This record gives sequence, structure tokens and C-alpha cells, in this order.
Amino acid sequence: MLEATVANQIAAGEVVERPASVLKELLENSLDADAQHLRIRLEEGGLSLLAVEDDGIGIPAEELPLALERHATSKLRCAEDLQRIASFGFRGEALPAIASVARLRIQSRPAEAGAAVQIEVEGGRVLSSQVCPRAPGTTVEVRDLFFNVPARRKFLRSPTTELGRMQKVLRQTALAHFAVGFELIQGSRILAHYAPAASEAAQDARVGEILGTDFLANSLRFAEEDGELRIRGWLGLPTYNRPRADEQHFFVNGRPVRDSALNHALRAAYADVLYQDRHPVAVLYLSMPPHWVDVNVHPAKTELRFADSRRIHDFLRHAIRSVIAHEAKPSRPLAGA
Ligand code: ADP
Ligand code: MG
Repeated sequence: MLEATVANQIAAGEVVERPASVLKELLENSLDADAQHLRIRLEEGGLSLLAVEDDGIGIPAEELPLALERHATSKLRCAEDLQRIASFGFRGEALPAIASVARLRIQSRPAEAGAAVQIEVEGGRVLSSQVCPRAPGTTVEVRDLFFNVPARRKFLRSPTTELGRMQKVLRQTALAHFAVGFELIQGSRILAHYAPAASEAAQDARVGEILGTDFLANSLRFAEEDGELRIRGWLGLPTYNRPRADEQHFFVNGRPVRDSALNHALRAAYADVLYQDRHPVAVLYLSMPPHWVDVNVHPAKTELRFADSRRIHDFLRHAIRSVIAHEAKPSRPLAGA
């Protein structure tokens, strides 16, 4: 039998690669907890400190130690639940994995509790547990990632590079959750502030902040459906294109995903209106019944498998093509794009 700490460190190898993957897990936990406002605080690109504060439902005091134990998820009670996963986290792995390779402090208070409980863990060992004041919600602070795993620490890049990766995670998350407010602070600098965006205009504004106002001015907002299959989002005009397929954001049932079939369908939809070596920019939200898609392919959960990939591909290609077809004539790449 593996000692729990060792097992957690091995799991950490799958779930926790760098600050950006820690951030992704912490953001998902906060969103699962129905948080409306999330504040991310960093020092040194997350290498010395990465904290996420939320105003979500919190964790009851008696469950807090459990949240740091492996496979102690509150979100999945039986194998059948896997078939209809609605929440983002479902493995009960992230917190114990992070705690096994960093110095972690968690503070949490459910609204009905009078105070928060705070637990400090270092390399998987609980150092202290105490009651402290806090508004309802949860704060997770992760310090000195991989301080006890030098072999992994040496794969971390400069604070600037790690920060860039975290900003990417935040942009994707902010595109997936318009109703939620996000703030990113490094030291005393506010690097990003996305106010909750309920109205269409506010959503447009957030897309403009994240992809640039140029994109917003050169895109079409659209929605199409075919039975239970729906797509909506923003499609860049063919004239607004890029040399690489690096600004194509896909969300399936609210979750950011990477899937080559989706990229392919998008490219195919623009085939007649773009030069071969140019790529469209798009933010696309697909929704379908949960059992049409398997998200449990990889612990990091950005990859997925469709039950009927062909159908999704064809729907996407047709829907997008019909939106851009009448807008588009072949055109030269934009200078500088
Ligand atoms: P999972 O998300 O897969 O359940 P995690 O290790 O990420 O596993 O989290 C363990 C548990 O801790 C969660 O199931 C949840 O009950 C609780 N938890 C973690 N973060 C938060 C948070 N920000 N707010 C409320 N509960 C949380
Ligand atoms: Mg989780």
C-alpha cells in the first residue's frame, strides 16, 4: 500500500503540472460552490503565492479536513453519477494533490456558520487547524508549489511565463461564466477585472476585453439549433483572421474544451472564404444532452469524447457556414493580424 502522501504526490503529477493547472482546479471548485465573485491573488506568477478567494457556499467545519483527503469529493456519490456530471470537479483529487506538493492554507465558512475554520497543510501534513473570522466563502492559498518535489519545480518557467498561462486560464474561465465577476491581482497591481456580465451588451464588453475590441467590431454574434444540439457565440468575420488557430475558444455544456474535431469543423466552415494558411477567430458555445459527451477522459478535463463526433462536426460546420456565407467574400489577411 502506498502511503497517502505518496499516492497524492503521484496524483499531483496528473492534475497539478504548474500554477496554471492549480488555478484551473481552484477556479472550478469556486464555481462549483456557486461563487459570484472570485479574486485571484498572485505573487511571482503564482510561484510563491497563488490564492483564490470566493463567496461561495463554503465547507462545513466538520467536512474541511475531509476535503483534503483523497477521493473525498462531495460531488459524486456513485458510479452512475459519472453519466450525468453537471459540476466541474468530480474526482476529489485536486485539493489533496495540491496539498501534497505545496504549502496550502484553506479557510472556509458556510453562510450559516458564525466563523471560518482554517487548516494549514504542508507537503500533505496538517500543521494547524483553528477558527478565524471571515465573510462566508472559501479562500485557498497555495504557496511554494513543488517546494518538496525539486524534480518538478525545475520544470516551472519564469514568473512571466507562468503568469501568461494563468491569464489564459482566467480568460477561458471568464468566457465560460459571464455571470461571475473575476479579479486578478499580482502584488498590488490589478491585472484583470471582469465585472459580472448579465446583459448582452455586458457580455459583448467582456468578449471585447478578452479578445480585443477589434475582434468584437469584426465579429457576428449568432445562435443556431438543431433539436437538442445548440450553438451560439461570436464568429470573426473572414477578413479578421490569423496565421494560427490560436484564438478559437470552444465550450461544451459550459466547460472549456480542446477538441480537434471542433477546430476542424470551424476551419471547414470558413474553407471557401479564407486563404489556406489563415485561421478564423471564434468563441463558441455548444450545448447538448450530457450523455452525448464523455468528459471523463483525462484528469485535467479539457479533453472530451463525443458519442457521435460526426454529427457534432457536421452540425457545427453547417451552422457556422450559414452564418458567415452571406457576409463573406475572399479577402486578404489583415495587416498585422
Ligand atoms: P472535487 O472538486 O473533485 O470534488 P477537490 O479536491 O477539488 O475535489 O475538492 C474537494 C472538496 O472540497 C469538494 O468536493 C468540495 O466539497 C470542497 N471544496 C473545495 N473547494 C471549495 C470551494 N471553493 N468552496 C466550497 N467547497 C469547496
Ligand atoms: Mg475540484
